[in-house]
Amino acid sequence: MIETRPIIAIINNNALKNNLKTIKNIAHKSKIWAVIKANAYGHGIKNVFKSLEKSDGFAVLTLDEAILLRENYCKKPILLLEGFFNKQDLRLIYKYYLTIVIHNKWQLDILIKNPPQYPIEVYIKINTGLNRLGFKNENIINIINIIKKNIKISNVTLMTHFINASKNSNLVLKQLLYMKKIIHNYTFFRSFANSAAILWHPQTHYDWVRPGIILYGASPTGNWRDISKKKIKPVMTLKSRIISIQKIYPGEIVGYNCEYYTYKKRKIGIVACGYADGYPKNISNNTPVLVEGIRTTILGNIFMDMLIVDLCKIPSAKVGSQVELWGNNIKIDEIAKSANTISYELMCSLSKRVPRIIK
Ligand SMILES: *Cc1c(COP(=O)(O)O)cnc(C)c1O
Repeated sequence: MIETRPIIAIINNNALKNNLKTIKNIAHKSKIWAVIKANAYGHGIKNVFKSLEKSDGFAVLTLDEAILLRENYCKKPILLLEGFFNKQDLRLIYKYYLTIVIHNKWQLDILIKNPPQYPIEVYIKINTGLNRLGFKNENIINIINIIKKNIKISNVTLMTHFINASKNSNLVLKQLLYMKKIIHNYTFFRSFANSAAILWHPQTHYDWVRPGIILYGASPTGNWRDISKKKIKPVMTLKSRIISIQKIYPGEIVGYNCEYYTYKKRKIGIVACGYADGYPKNISNNTPVLVEGIRTTILGNIFMDMLIVDLCKIPSAKVGSQVELWGNNIKIDEIAKSANTISYELMCSLSKRVPRIIK
């Protein structure tokens, strides 16, 4: 990519390594699936997977993501979080030695009709209340026996996903009890915990944990405050520069449809970052932004390729001034909240046209 516009996403691999280390310390008895689905939450699988080499495996969604890892000489276990979507997938799954999730009877039927030639590793997803994927109210032991009888298996791991694993959630316990009830006294490997459960529910850690958002340095709850003391660092900094300055006078307008209207004399800056870059269009008033290291706010609505910042309190601001849209100073959680969404969505929506620069 030719970098002409000043907008860039800096991917701080030291922060990534730091976050993995923090997770290892917290879940010190568990192995770690580094969740790098959705192109590593927008950071770029190729940019991050080497910094995550101290994880025990990678969890992805698509075959493309798994194959990309294998083609880059990744020899670690790779977990396909939703298993396969049709029977053709199995050939590649076997070819690339991927670990699959079985969440539904239709997958079981296909698997048995198209068995692997070598013992594969299987995750059985249990629906303990989220009601999205997984077996529920079924005889899980029976399902496992069917698999074991019909195909070569190296390991069975039971997997579930939590509805809400924030600090004060009582649903985690409920889901754990449900799990206990259906697996009786059998001992299987278990993988239950996402980021929130890793941070706040140590009794869920078991054999494998599955951190996503905290690897990238945002809070699973949407509030940075909740993780500010956990030694987690933001990985991505979205930066740009001011490309124009305007002085506007009382009564003048800013933006299409008179979206912003000024009552006093103002100095405003036009920043090279818009919703086509993945910055959220619908933000509330007073959304923070950093210009020359000073916090200020965004004015009016976001354009496709630009946005406007208030420079009243930053007299030194000029064309070329550095702007941080999110990163170490302006937490992505703040922007997500202001846009009525979550950091996950902002990370995943960062557009292809924003160059990722690895630091
Ligand atoms: C995405 C995903 C995770 C990671 O969730 P975070 O909240 O980002 O930690 C874990 N498990 C499954 C099944 C997922 O789909």
